[in-house]
Amino acid sequence: MTKPLSGRTALVTGSTSGIGLAIAISLAEAGARIGFNGLGTPEQIKAAEAALKAAGAPEVKFFDANLMDVAAIETMMDQVAAWGGADILVNNAGMQHTASIATMPTEKWQAIIALNLSACFYTMRRALPEMAKKGFGRVINIASVHGLVASIEKAPYVASKFGLVGMTKVAALEYAAAGSRETGGVTVNAICPGWVETALIEPQIQARAAKFGGDRDKGVQDLVGEKEPSRRMAKPEDIGALALFLCSPAAHNITGTAMPVDGGWSAQ
Ligand code: NAD
Repeated sequence: MTKPLSGRTALVTGSTSGIGLAIAISLAEAGARIGFNGLGTPEQIKAAEAALKAAGAPEVKFFDANLMDVAAIETMMDQVAAWGGADILVNNAGMQHTASIATMPTEKWQAIIALNLSACFYTMRRALPEMAKKGFGRVINIASVHGLVASIEKAPYVASKFGLVGMTKVAALEYAAAGSRETGGVTVNAICPGWVETALIEPQIQARAAKFGGDRDKGVQDLVGEKEPSRRMAKPEDIGALALFLCSPAAHNITGTAMPVDGGWSAQ
């Protein structure tokens, strides 16, 4: 049986763990060839590769680019082009650091903007023209509810994610007329998760848990309940399922959106 993404190739950045790995697994289950990327120990990278193969990816290739390095991104995009090019690009790699504006270290500002925002520009500017030539392409930028609303002590993160939502809209407009309903079109969208259960938010959970004598469950309730009316975190695979839908033919006319998966956080 032909799978929905048979014959397609997806590049998912930051897919050695968390949301990126879950998205890559969803796309692999649908039959896409998967280019994965991220930091991690050789064991983590091997485990991610095994999970992607087990999910059904016909081919899996690791790209070791550190996305804070523009030359490394260019090399990765050259290698992806030589591999047939990305029909689907998921810009997911990201980092967080919490501190007030007055105390935010300069190097954290620079690193977060470089990874969460600039790296997405460098991958998109290479991938989109190739997608337009084929008449099919999907760019999915993993922004955040913090691309829609602000919170204290997250200046570089919020700035990077608002920037990413803005750049998503520009790219969507520039490529809106590429392709056709029959070829699938070229769409560019942002997914804006609230709290998702991954390593990225663990330091924030631990900081809250400390308020309750180290009780992690109470820390989670305190953290999530403060902002999300649903009072529950999303799972990485929930984001994977939405990304997969955006890759479907039915999503050919969904472009330039910033979709919250935030339990009502940004509805308030
Ligand atoms: P994570 O820490 O589990 O994963 C981050 C991924 O990015 C990892 O694969 C890591 O190796 C990779 N990465 C980090 N620095 C890199 C670099 N310099 N070069 C290449 N890869 C690098 O985090 P996550 O929670 O899965 O986050 C994924 C994305 O989702 C991020 O963009 C994050 O901002 C966003 N997000 C997460 C949440 C959440 O609650 N977890 C909420 C909203 C948005």
